[in-house]
Amino acid sequence: MNEQQHWIDLRSDTVTQPSPAMRAAMAAAEVGDDVYADDPTVNRLQDFAADLFGHEAGMFAPSGTQTNLIALMTHCGRGDEYLVGQEAHTYKYEGGGAAVLGSIQPQPIANQPDGSIALADIEAYIKPDDMHFARTRLLALENTIGGRVLGQDYIAAATALAHAKGLATHLDGARVCNAAVRQGIGLRDVVKGFDTVSVCLSKGLGAPVGSVLLGPKAFIEQGIRWRKMLGGGMRQAGVLAAAAHHALEHNVGRLAEDHENAALLARGLGGIDALTVGTPQTNIFWIDIPQAACEPLRAALAGQGIRASIGPRTRLVTHLDISRGDVDTVVGAFKTFFKNWPAQ
Ligand SMILES: *Cc1c(COP(=O)(O)O)cnc(C)c1O
Repeated sequence: MNEQQHWIDLRSDTVTQPSPAMRAAMAAAEVGDDVYADDPTVNRLQDFAADLFGHEAGMFAPSGTQTNLIALMTHCGRGDEYLVGQEAHTYKYEGGGAAVLGSIQPQPIANQPDGSIALADIEAYIKPDDMHFARTRLLALENTIGGRVLGQDYIAAATALAHAKGLATHLDGARVCNAAVRQGIGLRDVVKGFDTVSVCLSKGLGAPVGSVLLGPKAFIEQGIRWRKMLGGGMRQAGVLAAAAHHALEHNVGRLAEDHENAALLARGLGGIDALTVGTPQTNIFWIDIPQAACEPLRAALAGQGIRASIGPRTRLVTHLDISRGDVDTVVGAFKTFFKNWPAQ
């Protein structure tokens, strides 16, 4: 395979290419200097996204790491803490930014097998008002988390508990559209209970760059100060916002195809004895591969134009550049490999 050919890339849903229609929207975008709030395309995206998710205001930023960090730094000050899952992106995969840049102490809590944080644990980890303790200010949840959908009843109970205890609530909704589509519910409903929400446009929705942070107007205004300090003030960002807007308008409903393709892929791989295959709820699932097979499998797949983060525990991700035909190709490649493995 050379770089010009079509790779079937199952590493992440961040690998998508902007479609011709998305590129056309980017090329046609009216722009201004967004640090002056002068970019009409950014402003339109922010208003559109806020309305779509039922929030008062929105802020466009270069990444989900940044929108999450801005949210944490706006909710919490120096010496405050936030409750977060051990597996959560904001805790585990964002370089410790809340602690490093925000002087915010994370209080990580074990995630349950379904991705939730037990209500009893949330309650137990909220610290009393005592000079020995950091001030517990915020509960941060993630949906979807590792491809799993948090139940709406659970979210209602967890956010109600947090609010009753005087905590604010933030949702890392990088893939919250997948959660909504999977459950057949609206975007306003899926984010209910959260004071602020971060949504990635550059994952399954297919934009090249960007996330939005949604919340009350005063919160977003404060957040814009942090965004500037963190280096996220962008100038003629309308070219990016146009792609993000296009993604939100056109690519939410079609996430169902990614979920179907993940299910199809899991079913196909499930027929291979050497593998232990998880059951996808959305577009992400895990398979266990015998250690000794990993290296030759990676090479065999690459030879057929398939990229995957092959290891003993492999995450597979479907997205808008993976077709049903691609799924068949991948299942075929795995089957061929494991028919001859282990070599006699
Ligand atoms: C990707 C991701 C982020 C961060 O987004 P970037 O744009 O990569 O910084 C945050 N949370 C979750 C759950 C993610 O998957």
